[in-house]
Amino acid sequence: MAARPSRPYNFSAGPAALPEPVLRQASAEMLDWHGCGVGVMEMSHRSPQFAEIFAGAEARLREQLAVPAEFEVLFMQGGAIGQNAIVPMNLSRGRPTDHVLSGHWSLRTHQEALRYGEARVAADNAPAAAGRRTHLPAPATWRLSPDAAYVHVCSNETIDGIELHELPDLRALGSDAPLVIDCSSHFASRPIDWSRVGAAYAGAQKNLGPAGLTIVCLRKDLVGHALRICPAAFNYATVAAHGSMYNTPPTWAIYITGLVLDWIAGEGGVAEIERRNVAKAALLYEAIDASGFYRNDIAAECRSRMNVPFFMPEDRLTAPFVAGAHERGLLQLKGHKSVGGLRASLYNAMPLEGVLALVAYMREFAARHG
Ligand code: PMP
Repeated sequence: MAARPSRPYNFSAGPAALPEPVLRQASAEMLDWHGCGVGVMEMSHRSPQFAEIFAGAEARLREQLAVPAEFEVLFMQGGAIGQNAIVPMNLSRGRPTDHVLSGHWSLRTHQEALRYGEARVAADNAPAAAGRRTHLPAPATWRLSPDAAYVHVCSNETIDGIELHELPDLRALGSDAPLVIDCSSHFASRPIDWSRVGAAYAGAQKNLGPAGLTIVCLRKDLVGHALRICPAAFNYATVAAHGSMYNTPPTWAIYITGLVLDWIAGEGGVAEIERRNVAKAALLYEAIDASGFYRNDIAAECRSRMNVPFFMPEDRLTAPFVAGAHERGLLQLKGHKSVGGLRASLYNAMPLEGVLALVAYMREFAARHG
């Protein structure tokens, strides 16, 4: 029998649950970081103390995610939605861009890219009839332009629950363009094959820390080609030249991210975290599929490990399910408003016990209402 948790299980899609030891350490250091007399929120980003925090966070990110030396790591603001504009302004060079449409977030990226140039649709998984998107177009079917500046894909659609588990090798598909991934909702949940990536961006507020920090990892040779209209604070070359301190960086979020990366290292690293994430997701999908009650429509090979949307046999049962879950300390299970139903986000900080508690409640609820 698992020990009773000290806090409820939080299934929020983001900002999301953080590891409890990180929150406890941050709370202990809130008023006085390492005896310097002030907390991290109150210190200058130019102070030696913050320089140490910053360097540690970057080093741990590079180490835990095995980011190669030929990649810049940038700590920015503006979120992944900001990157939807920042990426084309920095990387399109006035050429067309290719987009894989696989759900809510990649559609948003494509819409924004249209403001900056010719954003083409390389693949689209829109269902023929009304209904939800349920799969990721297989890379072999992507129609890649020979002159594209880059190919964009959202490697985990947080709202739709669709994940690209293996990044494609674009060269094998006949394209020399760099792959740009919005990995906001799986960053640090699994290793990344950097040999297949030109640029990756992620908001920190799912697996790494609080909202306000956007992490960008990109090949150094892609930096330095921004359009003239690109704001200086969002020009990758300017940000890189100033070590992510062209303007004040989100200091608190960087500090917490460093602590979370320490926690990941202490748990055995990203490979071990991935193994746990696979087990957690398998448990929940099995419970859904075996229930004959709940439903998840996503094709098996692209079901997200991070975000699991599921539905009741009748919509009228959704609100009572969410209310009963809340009473049991299972929080934030309501689905995104554009999809409805339920959604359980199983980011790194969600322990297996949380998923076991959810599955036990789901069985109980189905037995009562089935
Ligand atoms: N892309 C993905 C995959 C996301 O999950 C989110 C946030 N849920 C966004 C983009 C937008 O991020 P932000 O609100 O931080 O700009």
